[in-house]
Amino acid sequence: MSDKILQIENLTVSFDGFKAINNLNFSLDTGELRVVIGPNGAGKTTFLDIITGKTQPTIGRVLFKGRDLHGFKEHQIARMGVGRKFQTPRVYLNLTPRENLELCCNRRKNILGAVFGKPTTAERRTVGGLLETIGLIPKADIQAALLAHGEKQRLEIGMLVAQSPDLLLVDEPVAGLTDEETEKVGNLLMALAESHSIVVIEHDMEFVRQIARKVTVLHQGSVLCEGSIDEVQTDPRVIEVYLGHQDDEAA
Ligand code: ADP
Ligand code: MG
Repeated sequence: MSDKILQIENLTVSFDGFKAINNLNFSLDTGELRVVIGPNGAGKTTFLDIITGKTQPTIGRVLFKGRDLHGFKEHQIARMGVGRKFQTPRVYLNLTPRENLELCCNRRKNILGAVFGKPTTAERRTVGGLLETIGLIPKADIQAALLAHGEKQRLEIGMLVAQSPDLLLVDEPVAGLTDEETEKVGNLLMALAESHSIVVIEHDMEFVRQIARKVTVLHQGSVLCEGSIDEVQTDPRVIEVYLGHQDDEAA
């Protein structure tokens, strides 16, 4: 087995001739937590769309656990072990956090069983563990609609983990969160990084500093540079294209 969970080779994605991704090369070690930053329009969302199969490459290829993803549909790639968290939470608001997690745990088996059946002892234990990991035990049995925004984000991260993905793709998980919630989400991602490979797209630099080991900077659809947060923050090219006008351009 490859020690790289993800390899992206010479990837180009054109939209009517415009290259949203331009000859991009990227690789992620199994078990690594990587943060991807870059100014608005750098290609960050397209980068995730390619990995999940939402968008097909124009040129180049994506290997997941050594397997070429060419031609696979989104749901097939999800089943192979790629889980994606979108920016806005997608939890069932009329269900409790516990019920939301139970649905995800047995979604793989049978949707009718998931809705009408009782969870098994093993599933109950898994859900209990997940509730603890995401810090929602005290709110496990209230309606998800009553959760704060940050709590919903943590619940959705838990729902993603319940599906046992090998690679977690997380798009701007702390946008709009309070400092306290941001730190909690950071701690959660670091805890999950002990047993998952994770790519986080983010532009909150405090948050990046909290969680990042290695940072990749995207610019105009290519990798501008990679390194520790200190290395990229002092790289003149990064300051020029991204950090120099962080307030108006970062996203
Ligand atoms: P980011 O997430 O870094 O802000 P995106 O990946 O969303 O960047 O977009 C990169 C570039 O590609 C942008 O200029 C965007 O307008 C363009 N783009 C993204 N998706 C499409 C599409 N479906 N059709 C045409 N242009 C697109
Ligand atoms: Mg985006």
